[in-house]
Amino acid sequence: MAIVAGAELWQDLIDSRIVIEPDGQHTELSSGMHGQKVVFGNIEPESGLYHKWIGTVCDYMQEQYAPLPRILVSVADGTNRPVTSIVERFGDRMIGLHSQKDPRDPERLFLGSTATAVLMRNLNVPVVVKEDTSTTGGKSGQVAKAIRNAGVRDVSVLTTVQRRDTLEVLDEAEIPYRAIIKAPMPTYTPEDCLRTGFCSMNWLFKPRKGAPYRPLDR
Ligand SMILES: [Zn+2]
Repeated sequence: MAIVAGAELWQDLIDSRIVIEPDGQHTELSSGMHGQKVVFGNIEPESGLYHKWIGTVCDYMQEQYAPLPRILVSVADGTNRPVTSIVERFGDRMIGLHSQKDPRDPERLFLGSTATAVLMRNLNVPVVVKEDTSTTGGKSGQVAKAIRNAGVRDVSVLTTVQRRDTLEVLDEAEIPYRAIIKAPMPTYTPEDCLRTGFCSMNWLFKPRKGAPYRPLDR
């Protein structure tokens, strides 16, 4: 059921033509890899697509988690708004917390003192980090590790779109993860992109905003 709902949402995201970067251009993803971006932030709040997206996430959680996560944590800033919307739908059953971006380095995420205090009062409940799109799990992994460092034992990641078969940052940290939509999308290291990927086809390349160009160190 959840897979069908995910497939429907994926088709709607493709049809919207505002969420997935169009052919002919690609972007430096937060992982440092090159690929066509999936931008949930382009979905207008309160639009039909927004409600479909949030509804699909809520249905998935209702069906797939037993028990439901008690706390849902955002990956700043991308999932701050959806986490608030999801938690509103679950009412008293779920607490929403936001992670924060380091103002000096937007690639670094941390938990503020309020969020940390709430987690430390709830060390024995399931906590889920909500991400929209994952390539390696780098950002959601930072948040999940911070939650674990606060003393929470049961922390996992739920991503809406997982664009590669495995998320190595989460695998390495032994953080469990699930995805509502597994949609393999061509994603290249800068070197491979130049050799066989979008760069080799002369597709327009957009470096990440506000970050120095940083190739993947491997
Ligand atoms: Zn490229």
